[in-house]
This record gives sequence, structure tokens and C-alpha cells, in this order.
Amino acid sequence: MSSASKPDYPPLALLSDDRLVALHSAIRDWQLTHGSLIKIGNWDDEDNIRARPIGTSIFPTLFPRSRFEEARQLQKDYNELYAAVAEDDTWLAEVLRDMLVSDPFAKALWSVHLKAKEAGYIQPLTMGIFRSDYMLHQQPVSAIDPSPGLAIKQVEFNTMSCAGGTHASIVNTMHHHLTATGLYTTPPTPPNPIHPSALPTTSTISNLVFALATAHAAYGPPKTALATATAILMPVQPFNINICDERPLEYGLWARAPPIPCHRVDFPTDFLARTTRAETGELLFYPPHSTQPVEVSVAYMRAGYDAGEHDEEGMEARVRIETSRAIKCPSVLGQLAGFKKVQQALAGAGVLERFLLSGNKGRVERIRGTFAPMYPLDETEVGLWARGQARRIETAGRYVLKPSLEGGGHNVYRGDIPEFLERAPEAEWRNWVLMEMIEPPKLRNVLLSAVGVHEGGVVSELGIFGTCIWKKRKGGGAEIVENKQAGWSFKTKADSVDEMSVVKGYGCFDTPCLVEDLL
Ligand code: ADP
Ligand code: MG
Repeated sequence: MSSASKPDYPPLALLSDDRLVALHSAIRDWQLTHGSLIKIGNWDDEDNIRARPIGTSIFPTLFPRSRFEEARQLQKDYNELYAAVAEDDTWLAEVLRDMLVSDPFAKALWSVHLKAKEAGYIQPLTMGIFRSDYMLHQQPVSAIDPSPGLAIKQVEFNTMSCAGGTHASIVNTMHHHLTATGLYTTPPTPPNPIHPSALPTTSTISNLVFALATAHAAYGPPKTALATATAILMPVQPFNINICDERPLEYGLWARAPPIPCHRVDFPTDFLARTTRAETGELLFYPPHSTQPVEVSVAYMRAGYDAGEHDEEGMEARVRIETSRAIKCPSVLGQLAGFKKVQQALAGAGVLERFLLSGNKGRVERIRGTFAPMYPLDETEVGLWARGQARRIETAGRYVLKPSLEGGGHNVYRGDIPEFLERAPEAEWRNWVLMEMIEPPKLRNVLLSAVGVHEGGVVSELGIFGTCIWKKRKGGGAEIVENKQAGWSFKTKADSVDEMSVVKGYGCFDTPCLVEDLL
């Protein structure tokens, strides 16, 4: 067991009270001065800003170098895969068939797509800022591969409003800073794995800024005489508590030479009040304090990922965006591609081959190798079998149930599944997926978060960011214009909780401490 083989991490000398106090204080100061914060409600007054530090690990958490590199190398193929999925509405309609009838959110998004399709999509380019999340899984020893090993298994693939890029970068530079100051230094024995070359860096902020700037440039000059300039528009949720993650992307765009204007607008009410769609399809935004509209080059969605945001106004706003000439990041089809039902369907026989046409067999196998078993809960043969697994308390412990709701916090874990299903209307079960639990090695760390200090067993999740711009092909499909692996985020939680929620204080930003051999 890995926890037994690495009992000396974090090194004992670092766990002394003195050292922990010094680290705690250094971390809090770093977080305050670098905006590693999350706002507390909408309670600012004239003199005070209410915020708390985002959860962070005190030490980097061990992670195998080879698996880290593997996840990074997979990202461009994953980008291409999801671009292709987002351009295949026939396949999406088939996969989401039941949900398009009985799940209000899927139905709402699909109706936006149909309206835009009927009007005729006038922007051939689409953008994706994606994040593929993985956990380490301890493979059982098999006859085929007798070496016990650690594989990366995908938890989920995010296509909409992917957050955490900024927080990840700030905490990453913090761990590097703490290394440089000597606060992680221990006596020469036993060997201490924390050294600069073991801690990777990530430039997620500048990578996302670069990708948005590339899409902005690809849009070109204004198409209508009504505007003299173009700008990126970022629809955001009102009373936003996560501005520290979003704002640095705007600042990065404005700081370019020449500056790329980026405006944020509350979705949907202010968005509806401040935008119009020109007759020729351009999306025009009227910035506050200006009488001149700007033409929106890219609609970068940091809102609209939650079912609750899609009331009448929300729907009107989504239709306005989708039917416009702006490049969408993402389109509604791109958003639907991130539904868990799609992730489950991609594991079906021959499905990856459908989308990764130009691929050698190797890349299909590499992607498939990251899938954890997922089952539908529908009335197919496998679906009925999965229902049996989920309803019996003796078997349910191996699974997590993922209801169709997106936006986080809706999963039902292990022993809670049978009772949850008992209470839920059976007609909805078919919209959900049952996923085998990934079983990561138990490592140790100290976490600082809103739920207090945790010293003990931890579990990490590696998220790889990807940016992609593609062009709708005439006969169907996606022609890739830009495709990049764009950095990573690394989050760690106590092994006693299932959820990785950063807002609730369970998930803490972290840096992997790369080691050659974890087991
Ligand atoms: P969402 O972020 O949309 O709520 P996720 O699929 O990312 O949904 O699940 C939330 C959290 O639950 C993950 O961050 C992870 O900690 C845990 N989780 C999800 N699926 C699994 C799994 N198969 N095995 C172990 N943990 C999982
Ligand atoms: Mg998630």
C-alpha cells in the first residue's frame, strides 16, 4: 500500500508545531497579497471587503511523474474529441434522447440549439476552454499485466465555465515560493522530495488569455457599421464570489499590447439590457459609460452552467448569444457535450473511432485507457443490470451515482445510492449514470480550508486545461484551427469526504510533488 510505503511524507521535521505555524502564516500572507481568495456572499460595505482564503494544501502532494506527463499529453486528443462531439448534433440527440424529453435543462439547451440551427449558424468558429479531471487509480494485479500500478482515470470532462485556472496558478507559485524560502527544508536524512525540480509550474492564466486573444483575432474586424471596435464579453453570475478566478483573465486581456477589451456582464438580466443582436447577426454590447456599442468577438461563458439560470430571461439570453455571429466559448452543443451521459456514451464500442477519424489506433487506446467503467441506468440490458447494482446495499458501495444535474454537488455516493433511488421517480433514473469509484492511493498532507485544518489521509485530483478553436466543416465535423494543452490545476481533499467542492471548503488547491515511484 502506498501510504505504508511513504510513511515519511510529509517529512516529520516539517510537521513540528513551529514549522506548521510559520508555514500557515506565510501561506495566509501569500493568499491575501495575491488574491487567492473567495468572496463571502455580497456583504461588502464601504470600508470592507469580505473574503476568505481559498483552501490550500500546506505541502505539495506526491504524484507520479509519468502519470502527470501522460495526462498532459492526452489533452490535445481530448480537445479534438470534444470538438468533434460538439459538431455532431445527430449523435448528441441520440445519446441524450431520453434527457431531451424528461430533463428540463438538457431540453432547454437543446431548444436553444434548434433555434440557432433553424436561423442558420452564422459563425463557423467555436471555442472550447476545457478541463479534463483525473484521479489516480490503483490497478489490481491482472494476468495480462502482473505489475500493480497506478493509472489515471478520468473523473469528468468539463466543457463549460471551467474554473480554477487562476487559483491553481497562484497556489502553484506559492508552493514554489515556500520552497525557495527554505520553509520546506529538512535535515539531509531522510531524503526530502520537495525541491524545485519536483514541482511543475503552470501558466494557466496566460494560456487562457492567449487562447481568448487568438479567438478574438480570428473573429477579425467589426462586420457591422454600427460598431467601430470588437471586444470579448464575459457573461458572469450576479453576486459572484469567484471573481479572483475570473478577473485575472480580463486583466490579462486588457494588458496585452494593444489591449483586448474584455467586459463582464451579469447573466441574464444585465446581459439582455446591454446587448442587442444586429439584423445581420452581430452581437452588440453597450458598455457602461459609453454610447458606442462594441461588437462581441467572443462570448466567454462564465455563467449559464446551472439549470436554475435558465428561466425565461436566461433562455432569451442564450438564444441571443447562440444565434449571433460571436464565437461562443462554448456553444450550447459544446456545453451539452460535457454532460455525464455523453462521457458514459463515449465508452461504447466504436464511439471513439467515430470521432477520432484521423487517429492512429494508439490514441484511441490511450484515451480509452483513462475511462473508468460507467453504466447507464436505463432499460437496456446493461442499464437493468446497473440498476440492480445500484439498488443493493451490498453492491452500491462500489459506485457513485451522477444525476444529470450539472454545476457540481449533485452526486450520490456509495451506500447512499439505494435510498436515493428509492425516493426518486423511476422515470428519471434513465437520465443518470452509475460510475465505478476510482480508488486512489491514500497519501498524507496537511490542508488548510474553511472547514479547518486537516492533517492526515488525502486524495488528489489533477485537472488538465485544454484550449481549442475549431471550424464547422461543411459536410459535418470539426476542423481544428488551434489546439493546445493549457496548464493544469491540482486539488486535494481529505480522504474522508467524497466531494471536491472548493466553495464548501473540502477541495484545496495544491501542487503535485512529482516522484518517479509512488508505490
Ligand atoms: P461535478 O464536478 O459536476 O459535481 P464530478 O464528476 O466531478 O461532478 O464529481 C464530483 C467529485 O466527486 C469529484 O471531484 C470527485 O472528488 C468525486 N468523484 C466523482 N466521480 C468519482 C469516481 N468515479 N470515483 C471517485 N470519486 C469520484
Ligand atoms: Mg467536477
